Amino acid sequence: MATPIGNLGDISLRSIDTLRRCDVIACEDTRVTGKLLKHLSMSKSMRRYDDHANDKAREGLLDLARTQAVALVSDAGTPLISDPGYQLVHTARAENIPVTATPGASAAIMALTISGLPSDRFQFVGFVPPKDAARAKFFNELSDYPGSTITYETGPRLLKSLRIAGEVLGDRLLVVLRELTKLHEDFQSGTAEELLAHFEAHPPKGEIVLLVAPAPEQAVSDHDLDALLIEALKTNKTSQAAAEVARQTGADRKLLYARAMELKTL
Ligand code: SAM
Repeated sequence: MATPIGNLGDISLRSIDTLRRCDVIACEDTRVTGKLLKHLSMSKSMRRYDDHANDKAREGLLDLARTQAVALVSDAGTPLISDPGYQLVHTARAENIPVTATPGASAAIMALTISGLPSDRFQFVGFVPPKDAARAKFFNELSDYPGSTITYETGPRLLKSLRIAGEVLGDRLLVVLRELTKLHEDFQSGTAEELLAHFEAHPPKGEIVLLVAPAPEQAVSDHDLDALLIEALKTNKTSQAAAEVARQTGADRKLLYARAMELKTL
C-alpha cells in the first residue's frame, strides 16, 4: 500500500483503514513506519522486509499471508517503485496468494503530471546510476525514447548527472522537481547547461525527480520523402501511399498526398 512522499496528509482513507485492519505490516524500516503509525495513533506488529531477504524469510511472510492480512509498505510512496516488494509480490502471485493495493503517492507519477512534459507516453527508468561511465550509458540509452523519461536522483549527485546529461542530450529540455509535496517543493526546467547554472548557484537539497523531454522527431528531407512516396506508390493507391509515409515519418498526410499526386504526373 502506498504511503505519503513527504506530506502526511496524502495518506488515503483506504490506506489508513488497511493499516488499522491488517494483522502484520511488512516494512522497509520499522522506525520510519513506526513514525507513520504514531502519527495515525496506531500500534501494530511490524516485520522488516526488503527484497534482499532470503527465500526463507520471504516464505515466512507469505505463509503468514495465507491466513492473515499482511500490508506491505515502503518508507515513502508506492512499494516496488524503486523500493522493495517485487520479489514478494512475484512469489505471492506464483503461489496464488491474493494481492491487491491501496494506491496513492508516487514521486514519479506526481512529477510527470506537473512537469509540463508530454504525459501520453512515458518511461520510468529508476535511479540515475552513481558512476560516470554508467551514467553516460544510461542517458545514451534513453536518448532516443519518443516519450518523456522519468528518473530518480538525489541532491548530492544532481550536478554530475546534469553535466553528463548535457554531454549526451545537448539542448534537450530537462525538468527537475524537488521535495514534492513538502514545504520547499521546487520546479526548474531548462537545458542541462541552464539547470547546471541554476543549481551551481543554489546547491540542490532533498529528494529529486529528473525528467527528460522526448527525443525530437527525426526531420526527414524532401528528397527522402519523395523516395518513400515513390516506393509506396508502387504497391498502394495515392491516399494509402500518403498515409503509409505519414505513419513512417510523422509528416503531414495531406501534404504528402498533394506531393504524391505531383509525383505521379512527372
Ligand atoms: N517508492 C517511492 C515512490 O513511489 O516514489 C520512491 C522510493 S525511492 C527509494 C526514493 C526516490 O524517490 C528519491 O531519491 C527521489 O528520487 C524520489 N522521491 C521520493 N519522494 C520524493 C519527493 N517528495 N520529491 C521528489 N522526489 C522524491
